[in-house]
Amino acid sequence: MDLRIYEFLIFMEHKNMLSVQALSQQYRTAGGEMLGVLHDITFDIPAGDTFAIVGPSGSGKTTLLGLCAGLDRASSGSVVLNDIKLDDLSEDKRAEVRNLYVGFVFQNFQLIPTLTALENVMVPLELRNEKHAEVHAREWLEKVGLSERLHHYPTQLSGGEQQRVCIARAFSNQPKILFADEPTGNLDHDNAAGIVDLIFELNRSAGTTLVLVTHDPELARRTRRTLRLKGGRVENWEERAALS
Ligand code: ADP
Ligand code: MG
Repeated sequence: MDLRIYEFLIFMEHKNMLSVQALSQQYRTAGGEMLGVLHDITFDIPAGDTFAIVGPSGSGKTTLLGLCAGLDRASSGSVVLNDIKLDDLSEDKRAEVRNLYVGFVFQNFQLIPTLTALENVMVPLELRNEKHAEVHAREWLEKVGLSERLHHYPTQLSGGEQQRVCIARAFSNQPKILFADEPTGNLDHDNAAGIVDLIFELNRSAGTTLVLVTHDPELARRTRRTLRLKGGRVENWEERAALS
């Protein structure tokens, strides 16, 4: 084998898709005091890995996910995603990085209310000038079981259906890293199982790195590592051979 190819493969094997260093987040309360929500969080996620963040409600999971994906900027510490340091980037630059590399399944869906399911999934594809945006959007909506709901507006969809639109939108962009905030939280058992299989299939077939926030112990067990948060601090780590 060519030495340079060999070196590249070694590099890829050791590449971190996400590197979080001493990350802390504070919010100013209405009373003017500072509220610490995340304290000194540090971890690395190798490319292609699967990772779960668990912990009680209010422990900072959604905040941590948003900072890792560049949706928000931390009070202190550093986030490097796909070798790009997010800390000093403008909002526009972070949006560009997200559109190119990141898929995000929001806990509260964040669909655009004036667009149909199909149009919602097409938005990020059109932003990156994808030629066959509509074809891809239809394919993904079909994969999540929504081919009969393409022209429905978010208010005409159930919570579970909106969640599946959000998942189709995140997947269709072929992200290098997928962040999903309780992706099965609004789904019944059968739908949840189908979506979880799709998520891990993305990891297997495209090498997509997965970062999942979940209350579902079964879903957490399928990832290779689990970070447990409590009161904004790392309570413990679990590492295992992935089952999926
Ligand atoms: P989890 O996802 O684990 O339930 P969150 O990350 O949503 O937790 O929230 C962690 C804590 O941070 C909560 O106490 C929440 O009230 C607080 N918080 C989150 N976002 C804000 C904000 N924008 N301003 C003030 N407090 C916030
Ligand atoms: Mg949350």
